Amino acid sequence: MPPDAIPARGLAAFSPTAPLGRWDFARRPVGPRDVRVAIDYCGICHSDVHTVRGEWGPISYPLVPGHEIVGRVAEVGSAVSRWQVGDRVGVGCMVASCRQCGPCAQGLEQYCDAGFTDTYNGKDLVSGGVTQGGYSDTIVVDDHFVLRVPEGLDAAAAAPLLCAGITTWSPLTHWGTGPGKRVGVVGIGGLGHMAVKLASALGAEVVAITRSAAKAAEARRLGAHDAVVATETGALKPHRSSLDLIIDTVGTGHDLEPLVGLLRMHGTLCLVGGAPEPHSAVRAFSVIGKRRSIAGSLIGGIAETQAMLDFCGARGITSDVELIGVDGVNAAYERVVHADVRYRFVIDLATLDGGR
Ligand SMILES: [Zn+2]
Ligand SMILES: [Zn+2]
Repeated sequence: MPPDAIPARGLAAFSPTAPLGRWDFARRPVGPRDVRVAIDYCGICHSDVHTVRGEWGPISYPLVPGHEIVGRVAEVGSAVSRWQVGDRVGVGCMVASCRQCGPCAQGLEQYCDAGFTDTYNGKDLVSGGVTQGGYSDTIVVDDHFVLRVPEGLDAAAAAPLLCAGITTWSPLTHWGTGPGKRVGVVGIGGLGHMAVKLASALGAEVVAITRSAAKAAEARRLGAHDAVVATETGALKPHRSSLDLIIDTVGTGHDLEPLVGLLRMHGTLCLVGGAPEPHSAVRAFSVIGKRRSIAGSLIGGIAETQAMLDFCGARGITSDVELIGVDGVNAAYERVVHADVRYRFVIDLATLDGGR
């Protein structure tokens, strides 16, 4: 590490099975185009759990996860002019991309032809080391990947907007969600509860599709106009061929056929959940008859993430969160695995100061 590297403290995974523990490490020095963010809050995404447990492939340890980061600007590089120390900012799932390819030129860095750099477990293009995420007191990020978080929003509750929010906002807006459109949301968890809030705020009529009666009631509270328990016989029937778009947030393999049947002509079923196993096959006639599409969508670009944050700032939209200290993270992971969270854990990084 260079002598001007920045000391950082965090919570790291040391193996696929051991609990996360405290770790002192170093951030790269603040370069001319960099911003250093003092982190206040970081959300716990199910991706964090999959990654540190090696469920999406082998990784190098120690690894600090976390890509739903909210903090304040603590330091700016000499070539950075748009931030001031103290600005309320966020960092999401990406910290770098090639910035030159077609997708990058369109502001869709998540589809960078060279592959974007993950906020954690990525290859740091500047230092050559492994990127470390937001369960930490500070992070150094290229200015382009820093987002303005509206001051009016609760900072802890805004953190999940950086992943769960944009992951649902991007397909909702790409497929023209607005007044007169009917949108289905499958799975009412971290992603799904944001999809319900955002789709209804965009003016669409929202139908939540869940497997639990309790979640159906919750979905109505979150803004869904209707909520169906998919496992109840005949529950989906009234909605056949009626939806313009379905955002499917379920993170495990499941049967898509009943969902495709809910789409009206030209409707799209969009997958956003990172299921490691395949979904069941769909019969050709299920999509042919009404020229239906099955699609997927990955997080969102920097420009659209900023648009989403500004929209949420204007409407007062945040995630429903459960705030925890760093000592609660391992227990929270178990509850994430069992979908026992309403709807996102957020870590208060001020608690890193205690209990060393
Ligand atoms: Zn995430
Ligand atoms: Zn690119």
